[in-house]
Parts: sequence; structure tokens; C-alpha cells
Amino acid sequence: MYHTLYNPSKEAGRCDVCRGELYQRPDDQIETVGNRLKVYFNQTMPLIDFYRQKGLLHEADGEKDIEEVQSTLLSVIRSTDRRGQ
Ligand SMILES: [Zn+2]
Repeated sequence: MYHTLYNPSKEAGRCDVCRGELYQRPDDQIETVGNRLKVYFNQTMPLIDFYRQKGLLHEADGEKDIEEVQSTLLSVIRSTDRRGQ
């Protein structure tokens, strides 16, 4: 997976590995960002409080390196799997 700013392919519009055509997710285009924010405030933020109050909220810093975010997410998934929560 590429990011147009933070993790671009070497040649614009082409995958480095298989040379396949790259496209942008429809929900990642500028026109829909405002709507995504609205959905976040109306639907996602209430869930954060809900799970925090139940002690089930795990947080991961999404601004770190891709590898670091991935390993954080995997360790959270593994730890919750062991406890059966
Ligand atoms: Zn590819």
C-alpha cells in the first residue's frame, strides 16, 4: 500500500513490485474528507468513550513509522486474544 505523500511509489501511478496501476481509495479523496470528519465526530468519537469506560480501549499512535504502528496493533490484537476479551 502506498501513500501519495508519505509513502509514494517510485513511478507515479505504478506499483514498484508488479508495475500494476495504482488508484486512490474513493474515501481518501479530498471531496469526501469533510464527510469522513463528520462521520468521525458523530459515530466514532462516542464509541471511543464507550470502550474507554469499559476499560476495553487500546490506543496506537498512527503517526509513527508504518512498521511500528503495525507491530503495536499486532501486539494489542495478540494480548486481547489471549485474555479472550
Ligand atoms: Zn503490485
